[in-house]
Amino acid sequence: MLNAGARKAGAAAPSGVCMGAEPRWRDAMRCDTCGNDYDRTFKVSGPKGEFVFDSFECAIQKLAPKCAHCSCRVIGHGVEVGETIYCCEHCRRQDARAGAPKHGAARSGRGAH
Ligand SMILES: [Zn+2]
Ligand SMILES: [Zn+2]
Repeated sequence: MLNAGARKAGAAAPSGVCMGAEPRWRDAMRCDTCGNDYDRTFKVSGPKGEFVFDSFECAIQKLAPKCAHCSCRVIGHGVEVGETIYCCEHCRRQDARAGAPKHGAARSGRGAH
């Protein structure tokens, strides 16, 4: 009789897998964007407060402003026009051409009683 059941002896399960779970920064260092619990997170503090991230990608997702014209994330210096920010000079020009509401006039003081 042929016994086709080829059965290999399974490797013994590694016993004693016990990584010292240190609860030191376990909870405190959770990414504020995706919630990833990572031991190499970093903090970023800025005008919006202090955040913890596991990657720059997550930091950008949370903190980087969006270009007012093309909506991409502004991760460089960008171009600021008043309170509006663009990713580049090209986008700023495109927006200006499309008829930006502000017409280059400097804002004058307001609230004169
Ligand atoms: Zn993350
Ligand atoms: Zn843009």
